[in-house]
Amino acid sequence: MITDTYKDKGARKQLVRELKTKGIYDDKVLAAMLKIPRHFFMHKDFRHHAYLDKAFRIGEGQTISQPFTVAYQTQLLHIEKNETVLEIGTGSGYQASVLLELGANLTTIERHEPLHIEAQKVLKYLGYHANFICGDGSLGYAQNAPYDKIIVTAGAPVLPKALIEQLKVGGILIIPIGDSKTQKMHSIIKTGKATFEDIELNDFKFVPLIGEQAW
Ligand code: SAM
Repeated sequence: MITDTYKDKGARKQLVRELKTKGIYDDKVLAAMLKIPRHFFMHKDFRHHAYLDKAFRIGEGQTISQPFTVAYQTQLLHIEKNETVLEIGTGSGYQASVLLELGANLTTIERHEPLHIEAQKVLKYLGYHANFICGDGSLGYAQNAPYDKIIVTAGAPVLPKALIEQLKVGGILIIPIGDSKTQKMHSIIKTGKATFEDIELNDFKFVPLIGEQAW
């Protein structure tokens, strides 16, 4: 059984300090990341590295995102309690846990079934509840739309049309877009039924978003 020791808590505190020095200023995001035991979401071979600001393999050729990336994307979402949020790329479930800790009413989609199953187990164990879907998130998830916020945690070649359609007017979509080597983070605000504002931000490197409206 995994435990959350004083050593883990201390390492988490140190990581949160590091995130602050790297430009994360949202106290609610920092508090959520201070609370959530990232090592619970990691493969046992890497668990002792859980509080390094690094991405690690989680199986199926996928990764748990770097803590800075999780904090950066979450900070851009400006989550309020009970907002409807869609996450594309459940992966380990760690990003999902941060969104849930902030009070999101979350639907999260993963295309790899083993990851989809494992993430559900960990989140349930930690007492979080979300709608877990196994499938192609590049098409969004129309059944629970429209969403206040959408976050994509894999690199897309283009902006998937379905995601814009499923966003509420005034809603925010955070998505990395680019080629297979690097992607720019985009913060997209839906300004009207068929209009949006697209702000291009920093460079990142994500695993690819694979699907009908993706790679
Ligand atoms: N949010 C994750 C976390 O906290 O661990 C990060 C996961 S990883 C960087 C991106 C995930 O997106 C992978 O698990 C990958 O399988 C998934 N993915 C890629 N394309 C997808 C798609 N079209 N629909 C759903 N999931 C997808």
